[in-house]
Amino acid sequence: IAPPATVVHAFRAAAARAPERTALAYFDGRLTYRETDTLSDAVAGHLAARGVARGDRVAVMLQNSPHFVLALLGAWKAGATVVPLNPMYKSAEVAHVLDDSEATAVICADRTWEAYLRQTAAGCPSVRVVLTACERDLQTRDDPRVLGFERLPVPRDTDDLVAVARAGLPAPEGREPVTDDIALISYTSGTSGTPKGAMNPHRALTYNAERQRTGHPIAEGATYFALAPLFHITGMVCELAACFANAGTLALAYRFDAGVVLDAFTEHRPAYTVGPSTAFMALAAHPDVTRDHFSSFEVISSGGAPVPPALVEKFRAALGPYLRNGYGLTECTAPCASVPPEREAPVDPASGTLSVGLPGPDTVVRIVDDKGDDVPLGEPGEIAVRGPQVVPGYWKLPEATAEAFPDGELRTGDIGFMDADGWLYVVDRKKDMINASGFKVWPREVEDVLYTHPAVREAAVVGVPDAYRGETVKAYVSLRPGVSAEPAELSAYCAERLAAYKYPREVEVLAELPKTTSGKILRRELRSQR
Ligand code: ATP
Repeated sequence: IAPPATVVHAFRAAAARAPERTALAYFDGRLTYRETDTLSDAVAGHLAARGVARGDRVAVMLQNSPHFVLALLGAWKAGATVVPLNPMYKSAEVAHVLDDSEATAVICADRTWEAYLRQTAAGCPSVRVVLTACERDLQTRDDPRVLGFERLPVPRDTDDLVAVARAGLPAPEGREPVTDDIALISYTSGTSGTPKGAMNPHRALTYNAERQRTGHPIAEGATYFALAPLFHITGMVCELAACFANAGTLALAYRFDAGVVLDAFTEHRPAYTVGPSTAFMALAAHPDVTRDHFSSFEVISSGGAPVPPALVEKFRAALGPYLRNGYGLTECTAPCASVPPEREAPVDPASGTLSVGLPGPDTVVRIVDDKGDDVPLGEPGEIAVRGPQVVPGYWKLPEATAEAFPDGELRTGDIGFMDADGWLYVVDRKKDMINASGFKVWPREVEDVLYTHPAVREAAVVGVPDAYRGETVKAYVSLRPGVSAEPAELSAYCAERLAAYKYPREVEVLAELPKTTSGKILRRELRSQR
């Protein structure tokens, strides 16, 4: 694998090869590679003229829109490190990230700025430059389902991102990033605790993007649909970086809405997409979904969250495509194991767990005990990863870095095992283990059983305090539209299929399970709701 030095190099190479090809497609709006290059050059020129220096942090807080890409490329072309921020973050979460990263510049939606970011940033002295974007600015179809807000006048203390991009400034000279520069400080999604900033170098992004491009060959110039949010490492690498490396078209649709996504599949005919399993559950449950929506795809990956084997089977039977599992973390710049194109992931006969795939060629995955020694083959232990995609550490957290990356090897905090053929299985997160009378229960195994029940749309299993057992198993589920199931029936269904200490004695039906905006079910929130 010979990846480009940085995503900017990959983008410029594509722009040189196919300047008139569409780089970004957004509802009715399109930008060619040449236009995207010129517009992002101008953003870089503006940031540099406003004093953003090489290595400065630029926070970008936008949904999947062309603006996100112009902000990202612009900041990189100015030599800056990008700090992607989840647009759903509330004031306190944003304040933490801006403070911690000491961001010099912020690029966000005008509405976010007006609503609270102006005030948040006021308490953060490092922020000196603000660009705001109105998502309607690039010719787009007025779709109230996704873009339900009016343009605000550009706030006086900020510059308008699109006006800046159209101003035609050249990119600053001598600022082009190099391969070891930190491209991103990615704050972990906080599924299990306080966000920590993983430092992803450019070389890790282009390595993983190139591995995906060569491992799952897709025709050059094909369309990649950004289902996973670009602010999350999966979207950034598997969608954006891989698309540019392949001189493809990146189709964007603001934020996830199953109906809008299905319309976009029909309009853009994508060859590739990746998203969390919950997004595929929502697409499969949509009343208008048909096999035609999926007929253009060459590869669909489900990664970043557990994939129940029942989903893969139901999806293929009803809609056609095979969902390819992939395992990754922010700390290893998205995937470190995936299912190769000519293969299908095996299911472990003992536990019913679907394999997440095989580690990549330069990636060494070990299953270790608490001391870091290998456990016997097939036994569960902590997954440890070494490879070119593993980050050098967390921003300003030397102790957390030493703990999570002894000798540069990432301790993932996930429990897994490997079979004799090298297939990797993720059992669950170490922290989510339930201890019922001294028996270990891994929530995933119970969830996988719940997903085989025809009424279940989403499932999450947590441990709850119990006077007799210490902890006992509780399941939260949401149901498929138009189907009903009683909690007692679901509990009995699991009791027939699982050991007595594993089945959920309590089941609660909710309309929707709490999720991060990247689509992961938040067990932590369910535990704390109690
Ligand atoms: P935080 O670190 O704050 O808890 P997070 O872990 O959700 O946030 P990510 O880096 O986005 O942040 O998620 C990586 C985690 O997602 C992995 O550690 C693993 O637990 C889970 N995961 C990713 N892919 C898969 C998969 N294919 N199957 C099962 N679990 C997966």
